[in-house]
Amino acid sequence: MLENERKESIIPIATVDPEPLRVEAGDNLQQVITAMAKALKTYALVHRGTSLVGIISYDNVAQAVAHQVDVSGATAERWMTSLADLSCTLAPLDWPLALDQKQLNQPYLPIVNQTHNCLGLLAPDGFYPLAPAAIAGTQTELTACYHSAALLNQQREHLALALEGAQMGTWDWDLAQGTMVISGELETLLGLAPGEFDGTYDALFNRVHEHDQARVHEVLQQSIRQGQGYNLEFRIYHRDGRIRWLSSRGQVFDNGQQAPRLAGVTLDISEQKRAEAEIAHQSQRERLVGEIAQRIRNLLDLDSILGQTVTLVREFIAADRVIMIQCGADMGGEVIQESCEASYSPMLGWALRDPWSVGETFLKHYREGRGLAVEDVYTQNLPTNQLEFLEYFQIKAEIVVPLLHEQTLWGLLIAHQCKAPRAWRTADVRLLQSLATQVGIAIQQAKLHRELTLANQQLKRMAYLDGLTQVANRRRFEQYLEQEWRRMSRENAPLAIVMADIDCFKGFNDKYGHQAGDNCLRLVGRAISRAAKRPGDLVARYGGEEFVIVLPNTDVEGAESVAEDARLMVRHHRIPHADSSVAKVVTMSLGVASLVPDSSQSPTSLIKLADAALYEAKRAGRDQVRTASA
Ligand code: GH3
Ligand code: MG
Ligand code: MG
Repeated sequence: MLENERKESIIPIATVDPEPLRVEAGDNLQQVITAMAKALKTYALVHRGTSLVGIISYDNVAQAVAHQVDVSGATAERWMTSLADLSCTLAPLDWPLALDQKQLNQPYLPIVNQTHNCLGLLAPDGFYPLAPAAIAGTQTELTACYHSAALLNQQREHLALALEGAQMGTWDWDLAQGTMVISGELETLLGLAPGEFDGTYDALFNRVHEHDQARVHEVLQQSIRQGQGYNLEFRIYHRDGRIRWLSSRGQVFDNGQQAPRLAGVTLDISEQKRAEAEIAHQSQRERLVGEIAQRIRNLLDLDSILGQTVTLVREFIAADRVIMIQCGADMGGEVIQESCEASYSPMLGWALRDPWSVGETFLKHYREGRGLAVEDVYTQNLPTNQLEFLEYFQIKAEIVVPLLHEQTLWGLLIAHQCKAPRAWRTADVRLLQSLATQVGIAIQQAKLHRELTLANQQLKRMAYLDGLTQVANRRRFEQYLEQEWRRMSRENAPLAIVMADIDCFKGFNDKYGHQAGDNCLRLVGRAISRAAKRPGDLVARYGGEEFVIVLPNTDVEGAESVAEDARLMVRHHRIPHADSSVAKVVTMSLGVASLVPDSSQSPTSLIKLADAALYEAKRAGRDQVRTASA
């Protein structure tokens, strides 16, 4: 009967733990924990054969001493710790047992035997067996305990799973004791082997990247001083040697009852950082390409464009040397631009002889608009002479992209790494390629610009030239006279002009015809030009058969001498003129005037003076020079 009553009054563990975890004597702790995780348990009763051997939680392992079970097996010992280390954290429960308050405030676990009978409470300082009578009286409370324990465990389990799923590590720093507890996820994030962490702050701190240590320390100290939360991003050295970015947030917990703690969660954000860096790099690259494109639009001088391109590219991809070669007719390339780190030999002016610049296979590849990247020249099985060339310029790695102009290979843009071989990033190659496209446009544009400049010069010349004689026209003469008038006025220097008129030209036309007349005008224009020798002198056709010479910085004597020279030059041409009243050849009459311009007069006054002198020459019998009286 008593037996029956007892049976009814005990709590069937099945309500919380329908399937006690079973382990074999050979199982180690890791296997037990894995089995627990699989079964979604945060603590479990551990049986061997038909005997209860202990209770295991994630935090610790408790030995079921009440049953005097032998746990001395070598493997079992590894996962069984002494009862004093037990640290299960079930909420204290109102347990109507002969336990004092102190005992109730410590963590404990109900111990249930293999047939699901509750045997007592397991606490760090010992096992508190339940008398059968007590068991009968505490059914409800024990059920409640199991339920709340189950609920709490479930919540912890969910939290643990969520943290695990989010790859979020947690840490809890007892500020009074200086000890620290970290979760398995945090161990994984740091690349610590299980059990390697010794529970000290320093062990964690030493993993922090040296450039971030001061900041991390300062933020944590401030958080502790001010009792506030913290939020940190920092780098650590993972066990695999790589640098990882972690983000950590936490809070000081200090309620006055327990020792103050600083606890937080930590997340690996290396991927995010890498993506951020990639985006930053990408936008920087786009900006650079945009910048160069902009400069290309502003600069029309090809040399400056190419020079700027190599400088910017070297800066941006941190290469040791960036060169540009222009392909000659025989496809040998000469280095026409270079930006080179000072410690390496410059290549400017050299003809390239490395296989990637002259090899026909590669040239074919470039003509299709494709580039290439060589990580390490020593793994390319190059013949000695080519290696010698590369060694001479310390080249260890390179990127080559073609510069195409109107579908032909104009040249190559090449980046060299000299310090060491370099695993080029796709982004580096892409950058060079998009810049090469811009340079192609620049070459095209510069060529067009040059043609346009020439055409403009031609137009300008035409606008100022007399079509028949190819000396300056009247418009140019007036403009030039105005300009020199002002200049001589400023310099207080004399300005002279010579007016020349062919003698009896009407008769020439009448006798030889208009075309011969035109030809005569051309010859006279050339003859006069030969007489005006200084760079500042200007010969112009004033109109009809009249010419004018502008002579800056020339006084009367100088101008008379030029006029006389011109007269003789024309005469010496011996252009027949049978109907002239002066000679048998074409002659000229010339009028000279010279003055120091001042602001009270205009250039017209000088023309009038020369004109008057010319009239005098005609009146005096032609074929002579006359000077205006001042
Ligand atoms: P003078 O010695 O007094 O200067 O006599 P002239 O015959 O040279 O002077 P006039 O002004 O009477 O004649 C100028 C002639 O020059 C008139 C015109 O037939 C000729 N002429 C003017 N412009 C041209 C031209 O472009 N081509 C040709 N063939 N003849 C021109
Ligand atoms: Mg005339
Ligand atoms: Mg005349």
